[in-house]
Amino acid sequence: MQIRCFKCQMPIALGRDVVAEALELVKKENLTHYDVRCPKCRTTNRVAKKQLSRMAPKVKTEKKK
Ligand SMILES: [Zn+2]
Repeated sequence: MQIRCFKCQMPIALGRDVVAEALELVKKENLTHYDVRCPKCRTTNRVAKKQLSRMAPKVKTEKKK
């Protein structure tokens, strides 16, 4: 998924793994959002849990190893 920094409008790409990890963390910690720091201006952008779950790939937690 891709978000845009609300401050400097810099597009920030979040890979699948990042989104999945973020969602896991949010669920585990019972947070309402995940903080993504802008690489350019270092502003913290909040990505809502809802948004994450919508973007996360719907894969069952199966480990392929
Ligand atoms: Zn920024």
